[in-house]
Amino acid sequence: MEEQILIPLSLDDTFKFSCHAGVSCFNECCRDVNQFLTPYDVLRLKQHLKMTSSDFLETYTSRHIGPETGIPVRTLKNRREDGFSCIFMSPEGCRVYDSRPSSCRTYPLARMLSRSRETGKMTVQYGLLVEPHCKGHEENHPQTVREWIASQDIASYDDMNDRMMDIISLKNRLLPGPLDDGQRQLFHMVYYDLDTFRQYLTDNYSCQKLNLSAESWKMIQENDTELLKFGLVWLRHAIFGSFSHQ
Ligand code: SF4
Ligand code: SF4
Repeated sequence: MEEQILIPLSLDDTFKFSCHAGVSCFNECCRDVNQFLTPYDVLRLKQHLKMTSSDFLETYTSRHIGPETGIPVRTLKNRREDGFSCIFMSPEGCRVYDSRPSSCRTYPLARMLSRSRETGKMTVQYGLLVEPHCKGHEENHPQTVREWIASQDIASYDDMNDRMMDIISLKNRLLPGPLDDGQRQLFHMVYYDLDTFRQYLTDNYSCQKLNLSAESWKMIQENDTELLKFGLVWLRHAIFGSFSHQ
């Protein structure tokens, strides 16, 4: 197994890196992957491919369950041809480049989020992941971490991923141990199957019942990102109920 190193970096530290079709390792990083998807990754990909969330999940992803938490997780399937490269890899590069998942955007950086048990404050740290197969580090293209984040259009992904992490961290504190079947289904629907969640709300709720203005109700009916933001708050209430303020 090749050795990789992680070099801690601050937002204004500089690193040299460039990835383009001319590098000798082009596509190497997409060849042997187990690509986890966040809820916002799924949202962007299903929009890019103009599919419903259910069809996208069925066609392109596999479902797993966190063994200790019971939290459902989705990963991209691998290509049938070889069984290990990413389903979106092509000789020309990533077929969904404009909507590629957050970890593909962030690479070669890794973004690590932690929350203080005492104050509840979130801290973000970055590291540069250096893997021998990746020749992008040999390109003479310096940039700061801040510049890399801006150039890869990661901010909206980070914002939504942090909201998701907030719920996972709450779950770990308040409900240690695996989720039960009902909780797991709710998690899965809100996290990954947004179009089914929208239908579920329409069938079971009204704006009055959810205490939403007609304008907010219309927004979550029409806008996937607003629906996901609402869903993460709704899920918090549905799973943790009265002690969700902790
Ligand atoms: S989604 Fe695109 S960038 Fe990410 S692993 Fe797959 S092919 Fe590579
Ligand atoms: S330079 Fe690195 S990120 Fe780019 S294709 Fe090569 S292995 Fe992948």
